[in-house]
Amino acid sequence: MSAHHGKLIILTAPSGSGKTSITGYLIRKYPALSFSISATTRAPRGTEQNGVEYYFLSVPDFQQKIQENAFIEWEMVYEGKYYGTLKTEIERIWNEGKVPMLDIDVKGAIHVQQQFAGDCLSIFIQPPSIEELRRRLINRGTETPESLETRVNKASYEMSFSHQFTCIIHNDQLEKACSDTEAVIKKFLGW
Ligand code: 5GP
Repeated sequence: MSAHHGKLIILTAPSGSGKTSITGYLIRKYPALSFSISATTRAPRGTEQNGVEYYFLSVPDFQQKIQENAFIEWEMVYEGKYYGTLKTEIERIWNEGKVPMLDIDVKGAIHVQQQFAGDCLSIFIQPPSIEELRRRLINRGTETPESLETRVNKASYEMSFSHQFTCIIHNDQLEKACSDTEAVIKKFLGW
């Protein structure tokens, strides 16, 4: 099967912008949308399970898959931590007759968009401000002071790419951002 078979949707944003909450809302509401489970070499957090939030791989296993050309895209999103979208994952979802939803970083989103041009809807979730983003990441309680600074610095850089995507959704208020995203997706899929 062609790797370009079917449509796909990308949600991208700086970490802490609410894209995972928006993705979760849409997946629960529309069974025809399916979360694309990425591979990563970072350690599982909290209740995360292999094959649910991510496929957790060792660094050698991830590098082996890079050699095998198994990824649509991959990035070292944070120092020493690989993240990537497996071709087999997208095909798994298409084979179920569903539309993959990718929750990936800005660089990865640009790469996927280039490969799937006409078949791809890319949505950039814009946080209200860097200060608000910092506050959300602190409240989430998953970051050390160092990883918080890394994420905040990366976020301000990523915000400069927002105009490269099909549309920008402002997440000042989560419920509104969910319904705005939903409207754009329904239009794209002709629902
Ligand atoms: P986290 O470690 O918080 O789960 O994710 C960190 C960042 O990596 C988030 O911005 C997330 O969207 C991004 N990410 C997750 N999976 C992928 C992937 O397959 N490819 C790329 N490029 N980024 C990913």
